[in-house]
Amino acid sequence: MELAGLLQDVFASSLDGVVIANCDTVIQDINPAYEAITGYTRQEMIGQKTNVLKSGLTPDETFVEMWDGLNCRGHWVGEVINRRKDGSLWHSYLSITRVDDEAGSVAAYVAIIRDITKRKLMESQLRLNLAQIEVAQEQAVATVGRLQAILESIGEAIIMADIRGVCVVANRKTGEVLGIPADEVAGRTIHELRAAAHRAFRSEGALAWAPGPAGGPPVEIGTAVVETRTEPPRVFHEFSAPVQNDEGAIIGRIYVYRDVTSETEVDRMKTDFIATVSHELRTPMTSIKGSLGLVLGGVAGPLPEDVRELLSIAMNNTDRLVRLINDILDVSRIEAGKLEIRRQTLSVADSVMRAVREMQGYADQRAITMTTVVPDDLPRVLADADRLQQVLVNLLSNAIKFSDEGSTVTLTAGHEPAGVWVRVEDTGPGIDESQHSAIFEKFHRVDNASSRRTGGSGLGLAICKAIVEEHGGQIWVESEVGKGSAFTFTLRAEPSLAEVAVPPVVGGKTVLVVDDDPDIVRLIGLSLEQEGFQAIGATSGDQALAIARSRRIDAITLDLMMPDLHGLEVARRLKADPATRTIPVVVISAYTEGADRDMLTVGVSGVISKPIDEGQMLSIIRSIVGETRADDKGPPSILVIDDDPDVRRIVRVILERRGYVTYAAADGQEAYRMIMEQRPDLLILDLLMPNMDGFQLVRLLRQRRWTQRIPLLVLTALDLTEGERTLLTLGPTRHLTKGPRIQEEVVARVKDLLR
Ligand code: ADP
Repeated sequence: MELAGLLQDVFASSLDGVVIANCDTVIQDINPAYEAITGYTRQEMIGQKTNVLKSGLTPDETFVEMWDGLNCRGHWVGEVINRRKDGSLWHSYLSITRVDDEAGSVAAYVAIIRDITKRKLMESQLRLNLAQIEVAQEQAVATVGRLQAILESIGEAIIMADIRGVCVVANRKTGEVLGIPADEVAGRTIHELRAAAHRAFRSEGALAWAPGPAGGPPVEIGTAVVETRTEPPRVFHEFSAPVQNDEGAIIGRIYVYRDVTSETEVDRMKTDFIATVSHELRTPMTSIKGSLGLVLGGVAGPLPEDVRELLSIAMNNTDRLVRLINDILDVSRIEAGKLEIRRQTLSVADSVMRAVREMQGYADQRAITMTTVVPDDLPRVLADADRLQQVLVNLLSNAIKFSDEGSTVTLTAGHEPAGVWVRVEDTGPGIDESQHSAIFEKFHRVDNASSRRTGGSGLGLAICKAIVEEHGGQIWVESEVGKGSAFTFTLRAEPSLAEVAVPPVVGGKTVLVVDDDPDIVRLIGLSLEQEGFQAIGATSGDQALAIARSRRIDAITLDLMMPDLHGLEVARRLKADPATRTIPVVVISAYTEGADRDMLTVGVSGVISKPIDEGQMLSIIRSIVGETRADDKGPPSILVIDDDPDVRRIVRVILERRGYVTYAAADGQEAYRMIMEQRPDLLILDLLMPNMDGFQLVRLLRQRRWTQRIPLLVLTALDLTEGERTLLTLGPTRHLTKGPRIQEEVVARVKDLLR
């Protein structure tokens, strides 16, 4: 009884629908859950056939299977699609059991149904998503494939590094250019790529990784021309720019290398051709001009006026032609990157006056007054005097040329913290704003009446611009048509004390790096300095020998193929000289094969072949300097710093006779540079000098640990106060007043200081 009641409760409260049908599938009873799921009431359902719920969407096989199951095994479990009373569809998870009577005939079918519509929907949604993902994936793979194909078919090497500096994309060409197997490029850090670029290219600029500020617009785009170290060198144009994502954040940097070897070659041939032709023109021009000058000067007797006039025309045009040839030569030098700038400290005021004097004749001819406004306190600049003159003359001559007769050309100069500016102003026809940048291009002339009238090559301003920029300055024009023109250029002021480049000072052993390629010297020096060595560079055998003799060197790395003196010869000389005999020499060369015996006979301590394996090089050098004894040292070296050449000479002679090695510097700046390079054992210092005086130099030297210990002999004509003496102290210090007994006194003090 109790069980029947319990079953009744289960039937009534089950969450699954339960239906009981007779042997003909006519419904006898359903529970409330069945009502809820199907939407039919119990009254409506009783007496109906179970197939009243059929939607027609369940495959027929399902029912065949169902009846098979029920008939053979007495139960079936499966899924069917049904229709509710309101017509809507639902998925049913159906479990039917056949109930037999004692005689074995079907008494009833009991079915339990569960609404799995939601699960089915989710399943089909999932299937849909999966299908979409597959399609997207296929598309992505196809896109990547296409992009990869594009990347690989491009002639340029393309690399992209992410914001951490790891290479994420690189095409095969990159491997070729950088000399790394193509499949190993991606995944490398930019440091490794930079090292590879250093090995591959001569130029320092290649692959200088600078991720730049995140979020900013990718405006900064770098281009450079770099040359490989291979023979013959190939020339690449390097382009590099930050890469932004859709939100504008910087996600990395792209590098593109384009082989421009043949373009460069054609360009070089053109430039060479122009240079040769211009040079060849110069010689005949010189004789034409010389002969004309002689005839006009009266060698052939007095000339009739009309002949003189004709010859003067020839002479003027010869001058013009010479100027043109010189300009063309300058342009070809500029294009070949061979514009030589010999910087010296000079006064802009002097240069301005010289240029005005030079142009006075031309100005007089055109009745033009030149006025100059140059302040007295203009700082001096570091510039090439002749090239600065060329810029000034060019601007003045344009100003005079384009001005109306009788007008004024004004030359003004001034200075700002960053440097000096010079402006040439005229009241001529002016230049339309659209032409302001074009006139600085070579062969560009403004097509107007005044340009046509005056004639010209259109080279002057291009040359001015190249010269000014080579000096680190800028040039520009301010002008309006009808209102005259003002051309301004800037030059950087001579670097002040604070800007003097101070080489890094590292304790430990000093290695002299010798290679005719300054880039390799810098590269090896850099990796040595990273390891705590002090590196000194030499780019020729002679320089190396001089350095090795003059200061303490713990090891030398030596290139073999150098143009002036072969490395083996350098090694031989080092080993022959008692002062340098004990310095171990390591050969670093691309051509080490076959030279082994020679190297052994000269006593080379190690051989490293190029391209250099940094780890191997460092370990060889480390082991070598570890073995050497530290007490072998040549004679002490002394730097004599005085602006008076006679004093310098006398002091050096005195000391060299006593066996000291000496150098000399004419002012504090030069001295500072030499101290950093040569590390002398003692300084002899005058106080009053141009550029940087003795007080300033000592103050600078007191800022570094090793320079503040250098022994110092102050040699001056000044009477020093106690306070000044204290300021003028480095390591052991003595003060000596210049006087007649200088010879004995200097020697005694030096001996004393070096003890
Ligand atoms: P050139 O004077 O030999 O033609 P430049 O390179 O010196 O060559 O000048 C280029 C052009 O710039 C000139 O042809 C002229 O059109 C314009 N220009 C230069 N200086 C002035 C000036 N002071 N006033 C007006 N136009 C000028």
